[in-house]
Amino acid sequence: MSDHINAICLNAHQALEDNSIKNPLIRYRFLKAIANKIDESRENLIELAHQETNLSHQVLYKEIDRTIFQIHTYTTFALSDDFYHSSPSSFSLKLGYVRLGVIVVFGASNFPFAYSAVGGDVVSALAVGCPVIFKGHDNHPQTWNAVCDIIKYCALQTEIPENFYQNIGNISHQESKNLVENSFVSAVSFTGSIAAGRHLFDLCNQRHKPIPFFGELGSNNPVFVCPNIFQRDHTRLANDFFEALIFRHGQVCVKPSAIIIPDTDKTEIFLKILQDKINDAHYQSMISEKIFSLYSQECEYLNHHYQSLGLAEINKGENVRPALYKISYQDWIKNHKLKQEIFGPVGLIILYQNSQEIIDIANSFSGQLTTAFFANTDDVLILDSLTDIFQKKSGRLVYNQFPNNVAVDYNMTHGGIYPATTNSQMTAVGQRATHRFVRPITYQNLNHDYHSKDYSIHHSFNFYDTPQQLCKDLTQEIAFKLSDAIIRNGHATLAVSGGRLAPEICHQLSLKKISWEFITIILVDERCIEIESSESNERIIREFLLKNFASKAVFKSLYGFDINSLNNDAEYHKPIDCIILGMGEDGHCASLFPNSKNIDDGLISDSPYSLQYAPHKPIQRISINMKKIIQSHSVFLAISGEQKIDTLKDALFLHSTYPVSFLLRKKKINIFIS
Ligand code: NAP
Repeated sequence: MSDHINAICLNAHQALEDNSIKNPLIRYRFLKAIANKIDESRENLIELAHQETNLSHQVLYKEIDRTIFQIHTYTTFALSDDFYHSSPSSFSLKLGYVRLGVIVVFGASNFPFAYSAVGGDVVSALAVGCPVIFKGHDNHPQTWNAVCDIIKYCALQTEIPENFYQNIGNISHQESKNLVENSFVSAVSFTGSIAAGRHLFDLCNQRHKPIPFFGELGSNNPVFVCPNIFQRDHTRLANDFFEALIFRHGQVCVKPSAIIIPDTDKTEIFLKILQDKINDAHYQSMISEKIFSLYSQECEYLNHHYQSLGLAEINKGENVRPALYKISYQDWIKNHKLKQEIFGPVGLIILYQNSQEIIDIANSFSGQLTTAFFANTDDVLILDSLTDIFQKKSGRLVYNQFPNNVAVDYNMTHGGIYPATTNSQMTAVGQRATHRFVRPITYQNLNHDYHSKDYSIHHSFNFYDTPQQLCKDLTQEIAFKLSDAIIRNGHATLAVSGGRLAPEICHQLSLKKISWEFITIILVDERCIEIESSESNERIIREFLLKNFASKAVFKSLYGFDINSLNNDAEYHKPIDCIILGMGEDGHCASLFPNSKNIDDGLISDSPYSLQYAPHKPIQRISINMKKIIQSHSVFLAISGEQKIDTLKDALFLHSTYPVSFLLRKKKINIFIS
């Protein structure tokens, strides 16, 4: 075992236990800093990638945009409510998730940004707190080294330990073997050929403790054209197919390598259009010498055995042009070699005579990333059969479109049965890609009174550019929760705080068209002052909330309160449906201030309210107590400003003593930040 590899794996393993990377806000700041720095450095990065891969500036601009978008969306998704979350059940089960551990990522040759040093695989792992060891592809070392430098710089700026992300540099195949076999490594992610991917997959499975291998390997991405649509749209389909074939010079995993068309009186027209396009096509360079030589060899074989459309000459120096071959049903069925992925702008046009032949061709394909179908209303029966066949082996079914573009979207599945990928239950693109690097865990009968925190908790973080956007989304969420409670119980309780965001939150809430007549509004806290005072929370409620649709709500004032009668009121002992909290820069929430004289009462008392004082301010206050907040069904925390984000970041550390930390450790909170 190489000492170098072992040292890197040990470093990554140690980073796993670093408190900073367990802190979602620190990870968020780190990844956001990387996205911003990549954006700032895009001209230089694009130039490097262009020199190394021959991909055009325009293509690389788009790729870098996608990469930045990916960083933002994966990061916020991993911190959002949609991720695995705890939910009490009648058996007292709570579902949480734990990070897998150290992840090794093999960067792709064909996507110098989107699937390389800070591509989808890397960001999916970092976003959920898994340390990454990155092995870049030989094809573009200057590009990924430049990106790795950016990541290192951003780690230094954002309290991230340097070994959270390590660039292992150029290593031999033997060292790659040592790496994936290292006992500190918990999963491997890979994009490349079937041969290399299968080899590494087998190594992962043969380990004493096998680990997941998320490989994206090879796919033909067949396109099936049904008979009726072909008769009508053969001209358009020929043109569009050619565009799909040459997108990024055919060097994408979802390039359609085979189009299956009927043999009719229109077939010659279809073939002629493509033949002309091939003859007019330019010679272009490929992304690497290796891919150039594989492409040339495969086309030479096809030229020798099958009918080529257009010019037979594929290479001119180091450049190649697109190639298309006409293949009969019989040749396709009997020649297994035709079914292998060929990278580059090459495609097979397979002809069928009848519906049995198109079904046979469909059945002959192995697992696919995508399968596309062109059909109209007269093709229903055949389309249903094709859908049925490919549901069993394809990750994405595409109707009346070509499959080249891969959207970074929650609903995207970039996966499929082997050899498309090695794990068909996951996706390599879209927010769910982050799920590859965590595993679910169930906590049964966990009583968080016996622990310093509830382990199943994963707060939901929502980030906004402006307080206005924050208030809009927050109030929408609250309206949903209140309506839900009314459906379940016939009524709902909403507890509201004061603070800087309160007027806007109250105003936005008042505009929600919900059944306010069944809602009781109470105060989280109040100062012992006149209602007319600018510091009165009741004044905010009366001025900004009890109007518009919300004028029908019942409001329970704390004015002139007597703490004992308040705590004896049965109404206040019922769980609150929704509670909106703010947080001060000193880490207080409600009127529970750090080091204030009655804070212990506020944090441990079973009664709903207690008397509190803000340090250095003589005005007496009444505050809802911590246990009461924790018993609420939904807790929303809204904060705005960098200083408060800093406080919240510190409050998320396990040993923090801010009052808000007691809440964060025991209750899942919906956190809204601007
Ligand atoms: P590759 O040969 O599979 O290489 C991918 C990565 O695996 C490289 O870092 C490579 O390192 C490493 N590797 C290769 N063989 C290995 C072994 N035996 N042990 C350990 N590591 C090994 O892919 P490529 O260079 O990108 O392109 C070759 C072909 O892969 C293409 O023609 C295409 O067919 C396919 N490909 C598919 C996709 C896709 O999305 N499905 C993407 C890219 C490529 P070295 O460079 O040091 O060998």
